[in-house]
Amino acid sequence: MPVDVLAIAAHPDDVELGCSGTLAALAARGRRFGIVDLTRGEMGTRGDAAQRRKEAERSAEILGASLRETLDFGDGGLATGREQELLLIDLIRREKPRLILTTYPEDRHPDHIRAGHLVTDASYYAGLRKIETAHAAHRPQQTLYFSGAYLHEPDFVVDVTTSIEKRRAAILSYGSQFHDPGSREPETLLSQKTFLEMVEARARHFGFLIGVEFGEGFISKRPPRIDDLIAAFEGFEPGF
Ligand SMILES: [Zn+2]
Repeated sequence: MPVDVLAIAAHPDDVELGCSGTLAALAARGRRFGIVDLTRGEMGTRGDAAQRRKEAERSAEILGASLRETLDFGDGGLATGREQELLLIDLIRREKPRLILTTYPEDRHPDHIRAGHLVTDASYYAGLRKIETAHAAHRPQQTLYFSGAYLHEPDFVVDVTTSIEKRRAAILSYGSQFHDPGSREPETLLSQKTFLEMVEARARHFGFLIGVEFGEGFISKRPPRIDDLIAAFEGFEPGF
């Protein structure tokens, strides 16, 4: 059974930070989605690959993912050769997503930049019949991007107010990565309390832009079609 959306990023937790509210909101509407981590996160300062796999599985369960798959393209030096491209092309063909979500290929972590480019290219190439893999050609309708550490002006914002609790729980399932007062592991940028506060604040800010409590912003090389212009801007002004 095909998925509607495939969210693909470099490390376990990248998808949660960037678009998990949107994924949980889609699942609540009966849409199917999958998450693909291009690496096992083995180079992370805190935790190890086995622990991160458990955290990723827990998060996928919370969000309602139909599948979560971990590839091994190499954390801290993500490989983007033809071999990796073909693996990803075949995975996209197998799952037949209508949309692909990935990291915007301009960010602090070089793996995020590489992932954004690799996923963009594989999504297109998946539609070329003469590239032969185990599955038939399939091209998703569009690749959409979410911001990582750096911020990019969103082309549209998804209302995630009703799924914010699931998003929070999914992010917090990564106990090894984020703030934990009891942890004895070295501090990182992500493990500071202020990091999670920033993540929450960004969702609030995106929500503010569209007149709701929480939102997730996306960048798209083609604008989304709007069928109901009035509904698209409903609630932007509170009326007092
Ligand atoms: Zn990452």
